[in-house]
Amino acid sequence: MTYAIDGWFAISPEDGVHLLGTSCTACGTITFPPRPGSCPNPRCASTDTQVRPLPRRGRVWSYTNACYPPPAPYVAADPYVPVTLAAVELDEVGIVVLGQVKGLTADQLQVGMELELTSGPLADGPLVWMWGRAS
Ligand SMILES: [Zn+2]
Repeated sequence: MTYAIDGWFAISPEDGVHLLGTSCTACGTITFPPRPGSCPNPRCASTDTQVRPLPRRGRVWSYTNACYPPPAPYVAADPYVPVTLAAVELDEVGIVVLGQVKGLTADQLQVGMELELTSGPLADGPLVWMWGRAS
C-alpha cells in the first residue's frame, strides 16, 4: 500500500484511516500536517511535540467542486472527472482539514454536515485520505 504522503495519515485494519497531527506537550496546540519539533503557537517556545492520531469525524466547514484538472506535476484522470473537495472541522480538536470527498457531490453536501475520514486512490495510484459519508 503506497501512501501519497508519508507521515500525514495511517490506515490500520482495527482503527481505519486516521490523520496524524502533532500536539505540543507544553501548551496542547494541535497541528495538521504534523510539525515535529516546533510549536506553532506564537506564545509558546516549546520544541517538544508528539505525533498523535486525530479524530476521524468532523463537520463540513466549506466545500466546492473542482471542474478543471489539476496542472502538472499532478496527475489527473483522463478523461477528467470533476472531484468534490471539503474543508472539515475535526471533532474535539477543532482544526480544519481539506480533502477530496468520496461518493458525494457538492450538491449533496451542506455546511455542518458530519463526514468521516476514509481513503481512496489518486489518479496515479497512491492512497490519500478522503472525506466520506459518516457511517
Ligand atoms: Zn506549545
